[in-house]
Amino acid sequence: MEGKFAKPGNYLVEVKYQILFFNQSKTIQIKVEDRTKPVIKQKNEIKVDVNDKDHDFSSYFEIEELSDYDISFDLEKVDFSSSGIYEATIIVEDIYHNVSSSSFEIEVEETTNNLVSNIQSSSTTAEPCIVNGILVVNKKHSLPSNYAPGENIEAKSQFLKLIADMKADGLQVSDSYSGFRSYEYQNSLYWNYVNSYGQQQADTFSARAGYSEHQTGLAFDLMQPNGALLQSYNESVWLANNAHRYGFIVRYPYGKEAITGYVAEPWHIRYVGDQATAIYQSGLCLEEYLGIQGGDYN
Ligand SMILES: [Zn+2]
Repeated sequence: MEGKFAKPGNYLVEVKYQILFFNQSKTIQIKVEDRTKPVIKQKNEIKVDVNDKDHDFSSYFEIEELSDYDISFDLEKVDFSSSGIYEATIIVEDIYHNVSSSSFEIEVEETTNNLVSNIQSSSTTAEPCIVNGILVVNKKHSLPSNYAPGENIEAKSQFLKLIADMKADGLQVSDSYSGFRSYEYQNSLYWNYVNSYGQQQADTFSARAGYSEHQTGLAFDLMQPNGALLQSYNESVWLANNAHRYGFIVRYPYGKEAITGYVAEPWHIRYVGDQATAIYQSGLCLEEYLGIQGGDYN
C-alpha cells in the first residue's frame, strides 16, 4: 500500500480476510493527512511606492506545499505613508492547519517619477510657485503632475507632536489622518466627487488634481475619533490657536473663502515652519500674507 497515498485525502480500501474457511471482506476508510508545514521562499526583495497599500505581496514568494493553502500578511508595522524599511510577516496555512510564518522586509520608497495615465483632466506642467520660501498651491497655482515628494519628514514629526499634545490636553482626536496625496490619487478623488455632487459643488471642497495642497506632502487633515473630519468646537478652537506653535497654519479659515477658494476647513493644517506664528498673529490667510493671487480657477 505504501506509495499509493502520496496525496492527502480520503481513500476507501477493501480488506479481504478469512475466518475459518469463510472469505470475508470489509471496506474501511483511510484518511491521509498532510502534516508537513508549508515552506516559504522569498524570490525577490520587496520595494513599493509610498501609499501603495494594495500591492500584491504574494507574487514575491514561492510556496512549497502539497495541499491547498491560504496566504495572509501581517502588515501592522508597515507605514505605507512614509518611506522606510519595515518588517512584515507572511503566514501560510494549509487546509490541514499546518501553519508557517516568516518575517520579511518591505522598503517603502517615495515616488520620484509617477507614470501618468488615463488622466481625465488636463495634466499640469507649471513650475511650483514658491514665495518667501513657502510653496504655494491654490486654484491659481498648481503643481506639476509628477511632483510627488511623499510626506515631508519634518512636517510629519511636528504633526505627531501636535496630535500627542492635543490628546494630553484631553481633546478628542484620532491617530488617523489624511496626509500626502499623489496627483493620480487626487484625480480619482476629485472625479468621484464630481460624479456625486456635480463639478460646481465639488470645486468648493475638493481640489482638482495638481491643485491640492496635499500633493505637497505638507498638509494634513485631522480626524475625530469617529472618523469624521475634525470640526468639533473645542478641538477646532485649540487647533486654530495652537497649530502655529508646531509650524502649522489652519489653511482655509472662516471668512476667507473668496481668497483661499475653499469653504472653511477647520481640520486642514499646512506646515510652513518658522513663519507660522507670524502668519497666525497677522490674522491673514496665506494668500494675503504672501500677497499672491487666490480665489477661483482661471
Ligand atoms: Zn485637507
